[in-house]
Amino acid sequence: MTASDCLFCRIAAGDVPADVVHDGERLLAFRDINPQAPVHLLVIPKEHVASLGDAEDEVGALLGEILLLARDLALAEGIAEAGFRTVVNTGRDAGQSVDHLHLHLLGGRSLGWPPG
Ligand code: AMP
Repeated sequence: MTASDCLFCRIAAGDVPADVVHDGERLLAFRDINPQAPVHLLVIPKEHVASLGDAEDEVGALLGEILLLARDLALAEGIAEAGFRTVVNTGRDAGQSVDHLHLHLLGGRSLGWPPG
């Protein structure tokens, strides 16, 4: 897959519009187009990584940055105190629908467990 075929690469490049809440050197965060909670953000690396299953050891620091940005965004969105969920769907059984690694940040309501 090339960047031009990948929806989230195209969002990262600014070629597809998104409701961006964070635009950093290596990471982008934007609001999910089909939110499942009052706050539903996606945090992505700007470089193409297809999934967590495809992540090389070399991107370990990047994965850490994604989690720490989610922490900061939870604070900024006002959901840190009540609690929030981070989810990385990987592959078919998890329902991954976009083949570019993304972390969901969900909050603003009580979230059920276990997930469906
Ligand atoms: P997943 O099912 O884990 O692969 O998550 C993909 C997410 O991307 C879904 O929650 C979609 O609603 C979201 N999504 C798809 N297209 C867009 C888009 N253009 N802008 C924002 N979010 C999107």
